[in-house]
Amino acid sequence: FDLRNEDLKDLRELGQGNGGSVKMAEHMPTGTIMAKKIVLIDAKPSVRKQILRELHIMHDCNSRYIVSFHGAYLADPNICICMEYMDKGSLDGIYKKIGAIDIDIVAQVALSVLEGLTYLYDVHRIIHRDIKPSNILCNSKGEIKICDFGVSGELINSIADTFVGTSTYMSPERIQGAQYTVKSDVWSLGISLIEMALGRFPFSESVSDDSDLSDLEGTLSPARPGSMGSIAALSLPVRKKPAKDASAKKDKRKSKGVSLQGGGMTMSILELLQHIVNEPAPKLTPEGRFPVEAETFVDGCLLKDPDARKTPKELLNFPWIERAKATPVDVEAWASTF
Ligand code: ADP
Ligand code: MG
Repeated sequence: FDLRNEDLKDLRELGQGNGGSVKMAEHMPTGTIMAKKIVLIDAKPSVRKQILRELHIMHDCNSRYIVSFHGAYLADPNICICMEYMDKGSLDGIYKKIGAIDIDIVAQVALSVLEGLTYLYDVHRIIHRDIKPSNILCNSKGEIKICDFGVSGELINSIADTFVGTSTYMSPERIQGAQYTVKSDVWSLGISLIEMALGRFPFSESVSDDSDLSDLEGTLSPARPGSMGSIAALSLPVRKKPAKDASAKKDKRKSKGVSLQGGGMTMSILELLQHIVNEPAPKLTPEGRFPVEAETFVDGCLLKDPDARKTPKELLNFPWIERAKATPVDVEAWASTF
């Protein structure tokens, strides 16, 4: 069916991201509950129409590991993207509510994300580009699915022109302006898995007080949407501030993900990106807390050299994932506990 804004009744807000907000809405003619993502797009009508055409590909993305698509429409000045509502929300919300996620559940998340990435790439040649816990959703049937993948090149460009298109889940090669490949998604998965297993963002306590920003220029690429070039142009704070300094939080939209607090200090995004490029990759630690197979898997995701880093297909054959396939845990029962 064709979606129209006047047929959708907003029920409640599900969350806010960099480019807009997501609402739970009822499609009144059919009674279908959906998640309606509202993206503010500052683009010409021709570009908006192109975005809508490109979003149409999502109708063909049918997999149990991908959040399904109900449709998209223009509601000036916004684009509304309606998708399957996942009633248990995203994995970041879940760990913030219940704490660190059991490693056997994390293994099921890894399996689902790898299956989803493999489907998107093998069937549609789509690279996700934004793997992070808030784009991994769960429902009370125990299904785990990914959402918000980069189907529309025009949408990616428009958002990059408007917002800081950089996330802290970015791989070292992406930070340095290299082309996106499916291996960049694998890096983001590795960071996300550590975050879920620890119940906190892995980099939040890892930067020392005396980190030097003088060689930052060496990592800057020519300005290109979403790379450090565009971040630098916005001249975000590059010096650490005491955590109690709230000034970085004034502009909610711009500061999202820009400053990270840990150990009483705040790391600016530039410092964090420099850290990702220059320092050894994070690991699933402390040693001995998690199964060795899980550590090995995360190491395979977080190889800094993208050529050495594993592909989603290779990772599906890692022992940790083989075991997750052979001994599925009851995700439905787990999801009923929160
Ligand atoms: P981000 O992914 O950066 O957090 P979004 O605007 O994509 O920003 O999403 C905001 C929040 O809305 C997410 O964190 C998630 O919790 C929630 N959300 C998004 N899509 C859905 C969905 N299909 N079902 C339920 N909740 C959703
Ligand atoms: Mg999202």
